Amino acid sequence: MSKRRPLVKGLEAIVGKERVVHHPEDLLVYEYDGSIDRAMPQAVVLPDSTGEVSRVLALAYREGVAVVGRGSGTGLSGGAVASEGGLQVALTRMNRILEVDVENRLAVVEPGVINLRLDQRARRSGLRYAPDPSSQKACTLGGNVAENAGGPHCLAYGVTSNHVLGMEVVLEDGAVTWLGGMERDSHGYDLRGLFVGSEGTFGLATKIVTRLLPTPPAAKTYLAAFSDMRSACDAVSAVIAGGMVPAALEMVDALTIRAVQKVAHAGLPEEAGAALLVELEGEAEELEETGLEVEAILTGAGAFNLRWAESEEERERLWSARKGALGALGALAPNYYLVDGVVPRTRLTEALERVSEIGHRYDLPIANVFHAGDGNLHPCVLFDERKPGAVERVMEAGGDILKVCVELGGALSGEHGIGLEKKAYMPLVFTGEDMEMMKTVRGAFAPLGRLNPGKGFPGGPAGHHNLQRGAVMAAGPGAYV
Ligand SMILES: Cc1cc2nc3c(=O)[nH]c(=O)nc-3n(C[C@H](O)[C@H](O)[C@H](O)COP(=O)(O)OP(=O)(O)OC[C@H]3O[C@@H](n4cnc5c(N)ncnc54)[C@H](O)[C@@H]3O)c2cc1C
Repeated sequence: MSKRRPLVKGLEAIVGKERVVHHPEDLLVYEYDGSIDRAMPQAVVLPDSTGEVSRVLALAYREGVAVVGRGSGTGLSGGAVASEGGLQVALTRMNRILEVDVENRLAVVEPGVINLRLDQRARRSGLRYAPDPSSQKACTLGGNVAENAGGPHCLAYGVTSNHVLGMEVVLEDGAVTWLGGMERDSHGYDLRGLFVGSEGTFGLATKIVTRLLPTPPAAKTYLAAFSDMRSACDAVSAVIAGGMVPAALEMVDALTIRAVQKVAHAGLPEEAGAALLVELEGEAEELEETGLEVEAILTGAGAFNLRWAESEEERERLWSARKGALGALGALAPNYYLVDGVVPRTRLTEALERVSEIGHRYDLPIANVFHAGDGNLHPCVLFDERKPGAVERVMEAGGDILKVCVELGGALSGEHGIGLEKKAYMPLVFTGEDMEMMKTVRGAFAPLGRLNPGKGFPGGPAGHHNLQRGAVMAAGPGAYV
């Protein structure tokens, strides 16, 4: 406590007593995110403005304290977990939408703005914010930028990096700078591009300029049932090979369907081995034509019970089933570990078969709910942390799944980042030289490496695994996050 006191006093002088959390029982809620890791920070501060963030970081710099940024804590790779202790800077109070510029189709927001809130605000002006993580009701734009978040509609529109024009950033020593700006074109090095996906290790974003797109004139959302995953995967490849890029192409397996139906009765086909949600967007006439082609391809691949949402309400119900799927899995097991790997789309079937083998080998049920169009797998390993050895088995199974993704020519992360969770696996993909190069880039932004230390590269302490239920489980099975 004595080492903590000068830091706490300094923080209180900047933001006031009520916005500094330092009693261990209060810090409990900040020791986890949506992943399986946990660790307690020394203190948490909740700044209200860029000026406060700057003064807080300058103080931490002088005191030699590590800093971890935090949005809503829905991250699934342990990014917001203070694995080396230090100060957590929670940006949730900075939640103002500062500007929606309809003419230039952009918005300026603070980092604590919730993703869905920005989209809803944009839609009131006939625009939209396209990247829509399934956690969009809860996650922040700051967290999205740090993780380069994806989502169901990123298949057609691109991930966060494609929608962020610039950021105001506070660096390790408290200096404030801008990367990118309000324009679509920039000259010189693309520092904005480097920052997006840097997982809080380069600086803290305090303002974000996002692109907004016009809302599509019409949308058509299909639900197709398949007898097994293989035919559903073949359908995904056939749709893309047919030259179509649906706005979204999402898959759930039989276990997930069962869980969703248990809690949401969303009309998913309970007898199916897999279901695909396919969304088309565009002009109504064009949709009719493309829709017929998609129907033919899906049916050709073995789809049964093919139907489409007849109303906006039904469409919303289908999306809510998909986006609430992880929460629904809470009905099947008290804990989950969600793995995030990528494989080439053409190897989806093989990857899923091997995931299933891994489940059998470790005697663990694995549900699959994922962005099939991107080849972005999300095997969700279900377990009960109270069973001796369960957590160790789950972690090993997760590691084996990531190895399969890499073997099949894929990547370690589709959208959740490396964080604590996957850092040990970086050498599967990168050489020592590659990683040194990345550290050199990090050093250009944060020379002392005190921003979110211990993340992204092998080594350093991990958080304490397990013993937490994950953000969704804690929120309850009905949670739509
Ligand atoms: C049910 C569920 C579904 C999900 N679905 C998706 C999905 O479809 N697609 C997807 O991409 N992700 C998904 N996620 C993961 C998660 O929601 C995203 O990674 C999201 O971007 C994290 O946002 P957050 O505000 O919760 O950030 P946090 O978890 O609080 O932090 C994540 C990282 O961002 C850093 N950070 C936070 N704010 C800032 C800032 N202002 N400046 C710099 N660094 C910062 C933190 O240090 C940390 O490293 C899902 C999670 C859950 C629980």
